Amino acid sequence: MYPASFEYHPAASVQDALALLAKYGDEPKLLAGGHSLIPVMKLRFASPAHLIDIGRIPALSAITDGGSAVHIGATARHASVVSSPVVRQKVPLLAEVASHIGDPLIRNMGTIGGSLAHADPAADLPAAMLALGATLVATGPAGTRTIAADDFFTDVFTTALHPGEMLTEIRVPARGAGSGGAYEKNPDPASGYAIVGIAAQVQVSGGTITAARVGMTGLGPKAMRLAAVEGALTGKPATAATVAAAAAHAADGLVFVDDARGSAAYKGNLARVHTRRALARALAAATA
Ligand SMILES: Cc1cc2nc3c(=O)[nH]c(=O)nc-3n(C[C@H](O)[C@H](O)[C@H](O)COP(=O)(O)OP(=O)(O)OC[C@H]3O[C@@H](n4cnc5c(N)ncnc54)[C@H](O)[C@@H]3O)c2cc1C
Repeated sequence: MYPASFEYHPAASVQDALALLAKYGDEPKLLAGGHSLIPVMKLRFASPAHLIDIGRIPALSAITDGGSAVHIGATARHASVVSSPVVRQKVPLLAEVASHIGDPLIRNMGTIGGSLAHADPAADLPAAMLALGATLVATGPAGTRTIAADDFFTDVFTTALHPGEMLTEIRVPARGAGSGGAYEKNPDPASGYAIVGIAAQVQVSGGTITAARVGMTGLGPKAMRLAAVEGALTGKPATAATVAAAAAHAADGLVFVDDARGSAAYKGNLARVHTRRALARALAAATA
């Protein structure tokens, strides 16, 4: 199916994009990689009258070392995140998660900001943002504000972005000694999206887990942190027994339904198994 007709506007700068957003009111959509928006338009689930292309703003795709955090422009492609030396060195979990997105074509076109703004409940990157404690930078008519990843994903395909705002940057705290992360994903065999994806980042000091953040995607209406798992890790010895005990809480408080992807019992088991695997690898990386 073809999308409904629309007017195409290449934005030359963030200010240009914001001005176009303001000019066309409710009618425009930002276009980044187009790998979520265009399929939705072809299915006529969305028919924006104006597309504002932000994929041609050079400064918006930069990945830079900000010292205590890695700064990633909103239109950085998934492939650029995977191959970035600064990402691989300072936040290896993010490179690992991005490498699980779709296939090379998707990773060469899709952008980090597009994925986060789209907020697909089965997308990979939201889990990483939660596990890494990232901060998202939104720019709008009133200026720039920062949003903690914990507050960004509000519901199915819904975020804390206001109308007229756009994501401009993602800041991911750099990891140092004693920190380790891992991502375990069970992909849907047809789409490649996560049936479940667990991103875990732990900090270990003197044989004790001093901090843990675990983000889950795929099994809920939005990406979420697994608070019961995190609580069962923090302050405990960095051992396989701690991991097993914590992973047993992976489905606590979650309600699953039987559907084409599996029974509710199967999904609960998937959550526990993938949490255990992600935590085991994260601990191994933290103590290597
Ligand atoms: C076949 C296929 C397989 C895929 N597999 C996976 C997978 O396994 N895992 C996964 O996570 N994803 C997967 N994806 C999605 C892919 O990662 C998309 O690239 C991503 O979700 C959207 O990024 P984009 O840059 O293409 O955004 P677009 O499609 O251009 O935009 C998506 C939405 O975000 C808005 N938007 C874009 N940029 C911004 C911004 N800076 N600020 C505010 N709003 C913005 C747009 O207006 C639109 O509403 C797949 C896609 C396809 C087509």
